[in-house]
Amino acid sequence: MPRASTSNTQEASLGRLDGKTALITAAGAGIGRASAIAFARENARVIATDIDPTALESLSGIRNIETRLLDVTDRVAIADLIDRESGLDILFNVAGWVHHGTIEDCDREDWDKSILINLTSMYEMSRAVLPCMVQQGKGVILNMSSVASSVTGAPNRFAYGATKAGVIGLTKAIAADYVGQNIRCNVICPGTVDSPSLQGRMEAQGNYEQARQMFVSRQPMGRLGKPEEIAELAVYLVSDESAFTTGAVHVVDGGWTN
Ligand code: NAD
Repeated sequence: MPRASTSNTQEASLGRLDGKTALITAAGAGIGRASAIAFARENARVIATDIDPTALESLSGIRNIETRLLDVTDRVAIADLIDRESGLDILFNVAGWVHHGTIEDCDREDWDKSILINLTSMYEMSRAVLPCMVQQGKGVILNMSSVASSVTGAPNRFAYGATKAGVIGLTKAIAADYVGQNIRCNVICPGTVDSPSLQGRMEAQGNYEQARQMFVSRQPMGRLGKPEEIAELAVYLVSDESAFTTGAVHVVDGGWTN
């Protein structure tokens, strides 16, 4: 019996995110969900948040994961949640929304919605957690952009690309301001990743196979990315293994922008 409990203790303490608490937005599906599972596997205490209670249910019961409802466009809800969750070591801002179209297709409502979900949410979340991270003398913020940003222009991604470029600027500014306080801020720019919302976008285009082929043809590897492949980069960027990395743009795009 004593041997078994020693080995269990050792198993429980083996992880790249031991002792860290991580909050993830849009953790109910796609890259956010894969990241919640990967962070939990590495022994972080994960607070997985999402606007969709059903999506969050799919994470309940997984070791080290707690779920909380959060709409990232609700600044009052953000403030309430962060007030209740002191001691955050890691914030992973994942939530984002794709508007399909050119500038002429993008009316003022689409534009405002893109800024609100893709950029203002990261401003609100980061502004809410930073005082606590400063007090702790450490912290990591990781943001989700895309190669459709300042990295490259993509057709029919006007508002998306503009706001995702903003995410890169927001990341670099936070990194510069807080580097002296042991707080790092990095950004991930994926190529096209097979997630539930991408499936929806392909279906919405009328001809699913043609839409899928268009997305795949942009990828020199001849395939879409998997959410788990982005999650593994995220684990590295929020762990101490990447302690010398801040303000950096991390492209993981199957060679799209090479
Ligand atoms: P997704 O878009 O499929 O959805 C993830 C989750 O976001 C869902 O569970 C949904 O309920 C939640 N969500 C939607 N609105 C929300 C809100 N207001 N507040 C909180 N949660 C909300 O996930 P994805 O495709 O993996 O995309 C995740 C992030 O990665 C986004 O920022 C996206 O722009 C970015 N990204 C995705 C791809 C891709 O090809 N999938 C490529 C590059 C970047």
